[in-house]
Amino acid sequence: MRLCSLTLYDWRNYEKAEAEFVPGVNLLVGDNAQGKTNLLEAIVYLSHGQSFRTRSQAELVRIGAEFADLQARIESGDREQSLRAVLFAGRRPRQLYLGGVKKKSAADLAGVLPTVLFCPEDLQVLKAGAQARRRMIDHALCQLRPSYAAALQEYGRCLEQKGRILKDYSLQPGLLEVLPEYNERLAQLGANIIFFRARYLEALEKEAQTFHGEFSGGKEELRLHYHTVSTISDPFAPVRDLYDRLREHQESHRRAELESGQCLSGPHKDDLGAELNGMSVKSYGSQGQTRTAAISLKLAERELMCRQLGEEPVLLLDDVLSELDAGRQDFVLNKLKKGQVFITCCEKDRLTELGRVYNVEQGKIC
Ligand code: ATP
Ligand code: MG
Repeated sequence: MRLCSLTLYDWRNYEKAEAEFVPGVNLLVGDNAQGKTNLLEAIVYLSHGQSFRTRSQAELVRIGAEFADLQARIESGDREQSLRAVLFAGRRPRQLYLGGVKKKSAADLAGVLPTVLFCPEDLQVLKAGAQARRRMIDHALCQLRPSYAAALQEYGRCLEQKGRILKDYSLQPGLLEVLPEYNERLAQLGANIIFFRARYLEALEKEAQTFHGEFSGGKEELRLHYHTVSTISDPFAPVRDLYDRLREHQESHRRAELESGQCLSGPHKDDLGAELNGMSVKSYGSQGQTRTAAISLKLAERELMCRQLGEEPVLLLDDVLSELDAGRQDFVLNKLKKGQVFITCCEKDRLTELGRVYNVEQGKIC
């Protein structure tokens, strides 16, 4: 998989910029606030129709402009494809195109331009809140399984509606009539989400274990645990059983949800726990252990994607290498020899010897 060229119109701080990229390492070099991360963000947006920094479409459009337009040419094997996204500063919904054909949702782009993004916050993912870990899992699974992406999107929409009902029912009691419908649909979608997450995390654990073992010279064993809704003791159970357990959980939380006005039941609360030699990374991991385990997870994510899609995803490293000591930098770089990579860094980094350099300066790429 390769991103051959990218054109940005009124995206973030880019008025108009165009670049052709090489198949190996592309280095985006520039001072702070010049547009390096904005460029990676554009690639991610085309990859799965979402920014990793904001949920607001308007923020992505250059201040003062009406809309942003992203266009890319990608190559997979001997096939060429074009991708395009048009985003509006106003309330108009964004438009996504694949090969010039308008697509209904981001789920239709799943797997077209697979990417793995690695940024400094990811190094803290095992210490951070559960949301960061869910985002990491969802980001990967959405690209691997279009049906997961579709289920997750609908789940998000239903959850929002249910949240509104729980908040507003005291003023509009009639809203409670539709609550059972939402609960039913959320349990159906939730069962599918759990089904996919359990399998993905099992595969991720296996890969990450190998990387971490190698990284720690065989001294540490990394284990991952999937935490989902408490009534589910076996997340590998058939979807029908998962559905029943979710309904049970909803039922037992019905009162609490009405009283708190919040959706307390469902896989939107899921989490991933990591242990090193039986000790929780979140509670006991040292800085070095936490970073090393996080790198192992990222490398595992890339490996799984590569295996399941049959080609290398595009790897995007935003400032992450300069955050690592020389030993860890070398470990990561050694594992990344194949495929297309985009690395952002500053002029003075030793990294600039690794590949083709693109200077990013005030929203221009040269
Ligand atoms: P760093 O090395 O500090 O990470 P960077 O090169 O990655 O810097 P970016 O995060 O890409 O920098 O952001 C560059 C600039 O883009 C910022 O100064 C920000 O103010 C500007 N910017 C962000 N969104 C918009 C927008 N919608 N319109 C105009 N400018 C924007
Ligand atoms: Mg940046």
